Amino acid sequence: MDKETFRKFGYKFVDWVADYFEEVEKYPVCSAVKPGEIKDRLPSSPPLHAERMDTIFDDFDKIITPGITHWQHPSWFAYFPANNSPASVLAEILTAGVGAQCMSWQTSPAAAELEEVVMGWLRQMLGLPDGLTGVIQDTASTATLCALLTARERVTGFKSNQGGLREPLVVYSSDQTHSSIEKGVKIAGFGRENLRLVPTDEAYAMIPDKLEEAVRQDKKRGLKPACVVATLGTTSSTAIDPLADIGRICGKHGLWLHVDAAFAGSAAILPEMRWMLEGAEFMDSFVFNPHKWLFTNFDCSAYFVKDPAALIRTFEIHPEYLKTGHDSQVKNYRDWGIQLGRRFRALKLWFVIRSYGVEGLRAILREHLRLAKLFKSWVEEDERFELMAPVPLSLVCFRLNDGRGEAGLDEMNKQLLEKINASGAVYLTHTSLRGRYVLRLAIGQRTTQERHVHAAWELIKREAEELLKTSNR
Ligand SMILES: *Cc1c(COP(=O)(O)O)cnc(C)c1O
Repeated sequence: MDKETFRKFGYKFVDWVADYFEEVEKYPVCSAVKPGEIKDRLPSSPPLHAERMDTIFDDFDKIITPGITHWQHPSWFAYFPANNSPASVLAEILTAGVGAQCMSWQTSPAAAELEEVVMGWLRQMLGLPDGLTGVIQDTASTATLCALLTARERVTGFKSNQGGLREPLVVYSSDQTHSSIEKGVKIAGFGRENLRLVPTDEAYAMIPDKLEEAVRQDKKRGLKPACVVATLGTTSSTAIDPLADIGRICGKHGLWLHVDAAFAGSAAILPEMRWMLEGAEFMDSFVFNPHKWLFTNFDCSAYFVKDPAALIRTFEIHPEYLKTGHDSQVKNYRDWGIQLGRRFRALKLWFVIRSYGVEGLRAILREHLRLAKLFKSWVEEDERFELMAPVPLSLVCFRLNDGRGEAGLDEMNKQLLEKINASGAVYLTHTSLRGRYVLRLAIGQRTTQERHVHAAWELIKREAEELLKTSNR
């Protein structure tokens, strides 16, 4: 591509994104394409000769965009949000432009030092203990895997990465834990059988006494407890495990405490939400995703550890071709996780934090929390609906309940969700709580306003009314 074409399309693409930000509300939130529909419109073999940028861009517009589900839509209430922001997108252009590989200090000193500084900022913003040191990972799944691997090494005296795992080690989490914990336990050599799902209370938070009971039982059976994964903000209902009580048990039994706060962690920038972190001094590691609720586009996961030396000892490897003269004075983040090559992710985080300021970020999160409380109050006031879990953050779990008994309610709510989403006006997803089918309305998209939440509620009520009229229960 010649430089004039690059410039021309560079401006055009920025215009496209700027228009997208303004107009995203016009699209159906969830793409309605059928499986295979996009593939069928694409050639199965690559072009032999260069194509014009016009042609490629046209195809993006015609073929790709209809298959996009619009995560940046203000009526995005599904899963958890995956936010971007103007500052974050602009920074990504620079990151792609400089195209640096940030595996060692030497391979881009500014990337390594900016990462150190920005992670220090995040630690302060969340009010995490001073003793924690941060590193950016791609996802919470990867960060949790790093935690499990480091816990494994610490409990075996750094012998299992030398001789392999010789005895079964046990991991504990609540029965509400994210699937990435099960995946991590499965691939880090613990084995799925050695993951204990500790029962939860009526708020879906881990019961500390049950944790201690499970640890004691495993010890009695001659198994070696290694790690507890506590969750702040479970994926199903944003339940918050009691860190302080869990931490004391970990301290007593010498267990690694990893905290998965993938979504909820961002809320700790609000002083009024710091109660979640009571007991943080017990944490060995902590992860949260700025790519969820801190307006830094995917991927950017913030991982904090108490003992960086243990992390490095678990991962470091020193091939001759990677040695540099600065290794004793600098941080080489390739030794702080699984991958060698690393993207320059600190840049977008730096741009986002500076362009909003901490107070600017707090204001958006506070509004999301307010909107969730508002939606919760509407659900509570309407006798046809039922709140299914406490609302400590910005996720509301609820269902339609016609009062005619449990049988058939799951199916009715499933139909309700399908009808709501088929409208294209909003996107909600579901979960299962104690075996019951539950609708989740997750507020956290950067541009969501009260009118969007209100419109969603009106739509939900309308579809529910229809359903109750036609149902022959
Ligand atoms: C979203 C989520 C994850 C997974 O995050 P990734 O960054 O996609 O790996 C893990 N734990 C919880 C509680 C989550 O909500």
